Amino acid sequence: MDKSQRSFDAVRTFGDPVLKQESREVTEFDEKLVQLTDLMFQVMDRENGIGLAAPQIGILRKVMVWRDPDTDRRNIFINPRIVERSEEVEVIDEGCLSVPGHPMEVARSEWVAVEAQDVHGAPVRLEAEGLLARIMQHEIDHLEGRLILDRASREERGRVLRAIREETIGS
Ligand code: ZN
Repeated sequence: MDKSQRSFDAVRTFGDPVLKQESREVTEFDEKLVQLTDLMFQVMDRENGIGLAAPQIGILRKVMVWRDPDTDRRNIFINPRIVERSEEVEVIDEGCLSVPGHPMEVARSEWVAVEAQDVHGAPVRLEAEGLLARIMQHEIDHLEGRLILDRASREERGRVLRAIREETIGS
């Protein structure tokens, strides 16, 4: 699609340079931030995602929204960072709205502790394991300019890149 025709809330996909850049810290907890998180919730729901990071809609700010896999509750993390992680890792298939249709095996810590802020700037801490820990690591990676392709093994990355290339040629 031509860039000028792209809708403002379209999900950016692999190859878009915005996905490779590090996002900036949020310092203003204002109405604009609330509007951004509202938009991100809409996009996450529309795309049936369980997490979304601001750079995925082209905004280089440390903002992520996510859905708790146990309670289905939607949440916002501003300026999140992983402060502790387990040495034990788990390798399972992981998908990404920015690499649509190509789940790939990614190794992640089984457990993480995350410190962040809520939409008003108050500090929050989360200890997560399993799928929720994976969501945290995945979305925080986006905020640092990393995709699952950067985390996958060389073989896995090669397999997916070949598949994407074939798709592009085929279309
Ligand atoms: Zn993703």
